[in-house]
Amino acid sequence: MDHDVFGSHDEFGADLDHSEQISCPYCGESCELPIDLVGGSSQEYVHDCEVCCRPWVVHVRLDGEGYASVSVTTLDNE
Ligand SMILES: [Zn+2]
Repeated sequence: MDHDVFGSHDEFGADLDHSEQISCPYCGESCELPIDLVGGSSQEYVHDCEVCCRPWVVHVRLDGEGYASVSVTTLDNE
């Protein structure tokens, strides 16, 4: 179980393990999507929903300050 009794380690800087809460465009369940903050300022990749296993197209944009904006669309919309 990931019960983090020691509190968040985010406050110590070095936040390379970022994740965003995303609602699945297919089944509507919210899932935690890990974001690769060192993978480039503009990323696009396919990630399968953990609940319904259908493919999301994930668009990630990072600004210079490590801020991520994430949007998820379905493959059919492309
Ligand atoms: Zn889903």
